[in-house]
Amino acid sequence: MNNLQLMRTQVLQQIQQACQLAQREPNTVQLLAVSKTHPSEALREMYVTGQRAFGENYLQEALDKMQALSDLEIEWHFIGHVQRNKTKHLAEKFAWVHGVDRLIIAERLSNQRDAQQAPLNICLQVNIDSQDTKDGCQPSEVAELVRQISQLPHLKLRGLMVIPAPNHPQAFQDAKQLFDAVKTQHAQPEDWDTLSMGMSGDLNAAIAAGSTMVRIGTALFGARDYSQA
Ligand SMILES: *Cc1c(COP(=O)(O)O)cnc(C)c1O
Repeated sequence: MNNLQLMRTQVLQQIQQACQLAQREPNTVQLLAVSKTHPSEALREMYVTGQRAFGENYLQEALDKMQALSDLEIEWHFIGHVQRNKTKHLAEKFAWVHGVDRLIIAERLSNQRDAQQAPLNICLQVNIDSQDTKDGCQPSEVAELVRQISQLPHLKLRGLMVIPAPNHPQAFQDAKQLFDAVKTQHAQPEDWDTLSMGMSGDLNAAIAAGSTMVRIGTALFGARDYSQA
């Protein structure tokens, strides 16, 4: 087994064990491979091991990789901060955008999504533990944003995305509680199926609390070297 295959196998086993501990079915948690800063050859190698969903944070880097890997059937997720002037590329090129936290961003993504394409999958990013950051809406804003965004025609509002501060497992439980509570506000509650939380250092706690999609970079690809990015 090559190195990336071994790392992916270990991560999948960790997910399985966390599910077992939480008495959840292993197939209720998806693995998103976070590939920012890693070259397209590493993604190709990971793809060969069976991985299909990849998450990128930086638009230009992602567009370059899409071109280099256009022969593969990759499901591309954008997990970075969404800038208002970048929504067109996101709407055209990605299958998922996780970092939506304002109505204007969602409206732009819906307007710019080609009606011939499948609806763009969206997660609403919530600042669940009141961090000092501009990213993520407040928990108190979620209900109204869900009501509005779930009516936009070319989007499918799938759930919530959180990035809590490290060592703060209560934040995952708060996110799960919020996720369950807003399901009833969704215009299409059956679409509301995704709780995007958990990274390399905290996937066990995230899965214990109810994550359905863990976003894993370091544990899959090794440490990131930003000087190469
Ligand atoms: C980089 C990143 C990850 C992956 O982090 P690791 O600790 O390397 O697993 C997950 N989610 C987001 C939003 C990220 O930016």
